[in-house]
Amino acid sequence: MIAARKRTVAVLGATGTVGQRFVSLLAEHPWFELTTLTTSERNAGKRYADAAHWHLSEPIPERARDITLTPTTDDLDAELCFSALPHEAAVEWEAGLAKTGHHVFSNVKTHRMDGDVPLVIAEVNPEHLDALRVQRKRRGWSGSIVANGNCSAIGFSLATAPLHRAYGIERALVTTLQALSGAGYPGVASLDGLDNVVPFIREEEEKLVEESRKFLGGWDGSRFAAAAFEMSASCNRVAVRDGHTEIIALTLRGSPSLLDVTATLRGFRGKPQELGLPTAPRCPIVVREEPDRPQPVLDRDVERGMAVTVGRIREDEVLGVKFVALSHNTIRGAAGASVLNAELAVAEKFV
Ligand code: NAP
Repeated sequence: MIAARKRTVAVLGATGTVGQRFVSLLAEHPWFELTTLTTSERNAGKRYADAAHWHLSEPIPERARDITLTPTTDDLDAELCFSALPHEAAVEWEAGLAKTGHHVFSNVKTHRMDGDVPLVIAEVNPEHLDALRVQRKRRGWSGSIVANGNCSAIGFSLATAPLHRAYGIERALVTTLQALSGAGYPGVASLDGLDNVVPFIREEEEKLVEESRKFLGGWDGSRFAAAAFEMSASCNRVAVRDGHTEIIALTLRGSPSLLDVTATLRGFRGKPQELGLPTAPRCPIVVREEPDRPQPVLDRDVERGMAVTVGRIREDEVLGVKFVALSHNTIRGAAGASVLNAELAVAEKFV
């Protein structure tokens, strides 16, 4: 699929962990033209290459190197704004940008659970974008906000959506092993992260549960209805650089066989695959049969970091079925998912 015209785009919070992923994904994007990079006041006026403490293995894209960083304001010269702001800055700017006609694709928690803000995984609940009609009318905005979930909620929801759709989840238990980059930069102090597991991430378990229920729930044309299954989450920070691992156990209606569960996950495709969107993975869920996969170092970059890798699908004596899911937290769990949401919104003429 080819977009009718290129849209100008800004990255808000461009120097940070997620901001850098956005810059990397957008610099040569076929539908979007990267024009604006924002920062806090302390780096405003600097060249991007001088201000960003670059963490990715590929070099800073040529297109971004010489862009002069601007403070975040609500009159940015860009049609689409990809937000990787800290929450406090998002509170200050995201709604203002939408009011002044910008289409904001946010990675921040600020508006995720608002009753008129679609919280979207492009393969899972593309129909939730319809909420933008209600949002614009209710708030009087000419722009919009589409939210991206918390990184562990995206991994869980993408890996379980085909099963919820095919059978219905009755109960879910998830334990996460989350990468250090999920805390941003500088994030977790090295003495806390190295050789360690920290069994607490502030607000993470609450976000994982409530956002997953919104992703997997419905939209009836005027309101969202949360998916009604019971869910328990335990979140841990582990000494891994990138890639969140999630140990998931489910009770599914009708107790499908392991063969059926595996085939359902393997065969899953969504709207991005149907439309051939530029950032879409060919297979959003990759199933591995080896007993020791997925592993972050081996599997996080599958499909350019846009697939969830699932392995160890087996019976669970307590809940029914269990497996392990791995997703790249700053790509599928953040910037990549948000770019895919924007491609979907453009393709479906919501923006
Ligand atoms: P980070 O590494 O701490 O980066 C945040 C960046 O925002 C900083 O580089 C800061 O840099 C910049 N900033 C601060 N105030 C600003 C303002 N007013 N305008 C523009 N930029 C400003 O954090 P992160 O991990 O990238 O996370 C960014 C957001 O994404 C957070 O809300 C986080 O919860 C969310 N998120 C993160 C992940 C993940 O895996 N890391 C996943 C999903 C969602 P300067 O001072 O140089 O401007």
